Amino acid sequence: MRKVSIFGATGSIGQNTIDLIARAPESYDVVALTGGHNIEQLAADAQRVGANLAVTAFDARLDDLKNALTGTGVEAASGQAALTEAASRPADWVMSAIVGAAGLAPGLEALKHGATLALANKESLVCAGSLILETARTHDACLLPVDSEHSAIFQALVGEDMGAVERIIITASGGAFRDWPLVDLENATPDQASSHPNWDMGQRITIDSASMFNKAMEVIETREFFGVSPDQIEVIVHPESIVHALVGFRDGALMAHLGAPDMRHAIGYALHWPDRLDLPVERLDLAKLGQLNFRAPEDARYPALRLARWVMERGGLSGAVFNGAKERALDHFIAGRIGFLDMAILVEQVLDRFEAGSGLIDAAMTLDNVTETDHLARQWTDDAMVNRAG
Ligand code: NDP
Repeated sequence: MRKVSIFGATGSIGQNTIDLIARAPESYDVVALTGGHNIEQLAADAQRVGANLAVTAFDARLDDLKNALTGTGVEAASGQAALTEAASRPADWVMSAIVGAAGLAPGLEALKHGATLALANKESLVCAGSLILETARTHDACLLPVDSEHSAIFQALVGEDMGAVERIIITASGGAFRDWPLVDLENATPDQASSHPNWDMGQRITIDSASMFNKAMEVIETREFFGVSPDQIEVIVHPESIVHALVGFRDGALMAHLGAPDMRHAIGYALHWPDRLDLPVERLDLAKLGQLNFRAPEDARYPALRLARWVMERGGLSGAVFNGAKERALDHFIAGRIGFLDMAILVEQVLDRFEAGSGLIDAAMTLDNVTETDHLARQWTDDAMVNRAG
């Protein structure tokens, strides 16, 4: 039996992971499940998969969790220290699916204990790519991609020599507003941005898909994960979300990965790797699909892609600045305090301020420095809001 833990179990990726694990209960010994506010789901799943431990990230919810688990034999815990402790418990395979920079510390801890880390939490690589990779190397731990694009690239690279790779193309659905006139974007609401044309995901990543901040993060993630240079990474809008990524080789060949937009494919690939086992995902009927479309992303519609290029050129902790500012700007957008287009404007202002006036951006990449940079980036995003109002 493989020992597994799922961080962010109550979210979209977490629920898809539980769906796969619950189909083969004889194969898995579930060490820990973690969640946030969705205590009912966390407690129900912990019982369903027979987890030893359930952790809520929020101390204020511990009593609710304890009540929900009374008499079940599942241990309950809360808070950041408990998340880290859960990640230190021996496990063969750990799903990192907490949303946001909060996913970094537990993922690092799991790597330090030699677990195979299935990484959905792209923020980890954006904020602290070299720290994550170095920790995996030092502790002989394995890092597997779960983002559908990165899983697709990983699969297209099986048996290939990285030296033969010319370029990597990641596809983007274009999100909720891909066909909206540019002038209407200014008034786009959080509700409108929260509806994805193809994928069923958490609210934050869905809005990030509409703004292309999600794709911007994935471009940085591609650079970190596969070690290619920024100019080898291309983004193409592909409204059907059937081709997830393509790898171009020096002989001109392009290897594409196709599949229905269902995250259980990428999760299942990481769960069973290096084997391929049956997965309950739709099989594509290409004749029924008929055609697949591709178009270049418009610069004016997706400023986040330009900012990602800047971050990759700048390096260091600029990814942590980018992500922290993006997360905070997203908080403000969801709360209705700023417009849709303001998110990229705020993030750019924060990046400019860091470039001009913070030694932190060039500081060593340690967890403490990443955390401090993240906090400062959020604070500077709030400052930028105040300055706008003023
Ligand atoms: P969701 O918002 O659906 O779920 C997030 C999970 O994190 C929930 O379990 C939530 O708990 C928990 N959580 C929220 N805040 C905190 C916190 N401060 N500390 C600890 N746990 C917290 O997100 P998704 O599943 O959509 O995404 C998860 C990660 O995977 C993200 O990094 C995303 O970019 C990435 N990803 C997602 C894809 C998708 O299809 N959804 C595709 C590719 C990557 P609760 O809900 O109980 O409050």
